[in-house]
Formats: sequence, C-alpha cells, structure tokens
Amino acid sequence: MSNGNSYRIRASSFGELFDCALRWEAKHLQGMRMPNSPRALIGTGVHAGTAAFDRAQVGGQPISVDDAAGVAVDAIAERIADEGVRWTTDDPNRKEVDKIALRVTTAYCNDVSPRYEFEAVEMETKPLSIDCGGGITIVLTGTLDRARIRAGSHGITDLKTGRSAVVGGRAATKKHRPQIGTYELLYEHSTGNAITGPGEILGINTSGSFQFGTADVHGAKALLLGNDDAPGLIELAAGMFRTGLFYPNPQSTLCDARYCPRFARCPYSEK
Ligand code: SF4
Repeated sequence: MSNGNSYRIRASSFGELFDCALRWEAKHLQGMRMPNSPRALIGTGVHAGTAAFDRAQVGGQPISVDDAAGVAVDAIAERIADEGVRWTTDDPNRKEVDKIALRVTTAYCNDVSPRYEFEAVEMETKPLSIDCGGGITIVLTGTLDRARIRAGSHGITDLKTGRSAVVGGRAATKKHRPQIGTYELLYEHSTGNAITGPGEILGINTSGSFQFGTADVHGAKALLLGNDDAPGLIELAAGMFRTGLFYPNPQSTLCDARYCPRFARCPYSEK
C-alpha cells in the first residue's frame, strides 16, 4: 500500500520481493489478484488450524485437536467465499482439500507441536521504517504470519507446507532466508530481545503420507543487513523503491499462470 512516498508493506510478503520483484510489485503495489489454487487452500487451512492450536497452548488455555481441525476447515471455507478458487482436474477437489487439511492439522497437533515450546505464535510487530533515500520510506508492518518464536533462544520457526516442503527427510530451505531474516529483524525491533538461536524451517508435506522435517537457517538477518563487501537485501530493496525498477525472475518456480497475476502479459515469462 502506498501513501505518497511511504510504502506500507506486510512483513510476510517481504521475502517474496527477492524471488520475483516484478511479481511482488504486481501483487502488493498494483493490487493484482488471482483466484486461489486448491493447494494454496490446503496451506490456508493447515496454517490457521495449527496456529490456533499453538496459540492456545502459549496462552495457557489449550484447545483440542478437533477444535484446531475445525479452525482449519472454517478458514478454507472463508477464503473460498472471499477470494474464489480456480478448480482444475489436476488438483484436489473441494472435498479432498478439507480432508487433506484435516489430516495434516491433526498430525501436526499430535506429533509435531508437543516437541516445541513457543513463546509466541504469529506475533504482532511494531512497524519498522526503512529510509530508502530520495524521500522514499518503506514501513514493514503486520504479523509474523505462519511463524512461531521458540522459547529460550527466541529463534524463528517458520512453518511451510506444500508438496515439496520436505525433501529427503529435511525441510526445503531454498528461498526462505529473506523471510526469516525479515522476521528476525522485526522480532528484535518489536521486543528488544536479541535472537540467539538459528532460524528454522519446519516443513510439512501436504501430499502422500504425513511427513515433516526441519532445517536450520543461518545468517538470515545478516543477509538483510549486508556487510562491507556486499549490500544487504534491504539496501537492494530500497534501490528498487527509489528507482521504481522491479526486476523480473522468469526462473522463479512461481513463474507460472497459476501463481503470478502478471504472467499472461509479462514479456519476460516463458509461455
Ligand atoms: S511472469 Fe514470471 S517473470 Fe513475470 S512477473 Fe510473473 S513471476 Fe515474474
């Protein structure tokens, strides 16, 4: 969202800026939208149900696994009603979407959540202003969507779901460092606590039998801040906002008509 030369950006979207900046600009500055895919709906349900379960634990008033499953299916129904879906024969149908989300949410609550002690779930953050020069300011706002803060080290655990979220027993971490780094910056800015543990991706596969895996993510905040030899991603982002040049990435795994609202008219994509 833009207000003159100040851009309010949801923290949870900032990582995507470094995958394809042009797609990010289409979605988050131009407001271009597209219907959800059935697989995205599964993620919506799982994230809502598991977050409700973990949040209730943190708050000292636990809810049942069945209640968490109920939150998952309600979140799916709500998103369908609000945003619509593009159903295809290659994807799970409406009934299967609920079934998979229920199965994954239930397994997470029973088998994964008890392994952790969290201090916060999808924490609300204080806005963080970044001066881009030339009178342009980016303000990162919102919650640490889909992330938990581990008690003790304050490390960020970012929950990722998908068909390839776990590969060879480990969570896939590729492309997730900018998001973890953004969350680390915002957590420290909002609480004044220093993070002493590594970032972590907690991956859950949403196809086949239930499978989860984890992998540490190191140096995420440093990637955002840069050093004497290389500018950080924040400085590069500031340059994009200052110049209005948002670069395409036709090699992105999300460079596809199913995921990018600009795909049909984008001169850089492979059609
Ligand atoms: S079509 Fe591909 S290159 Fe173009 S904006 Fe979308 S993701 Fe980026």
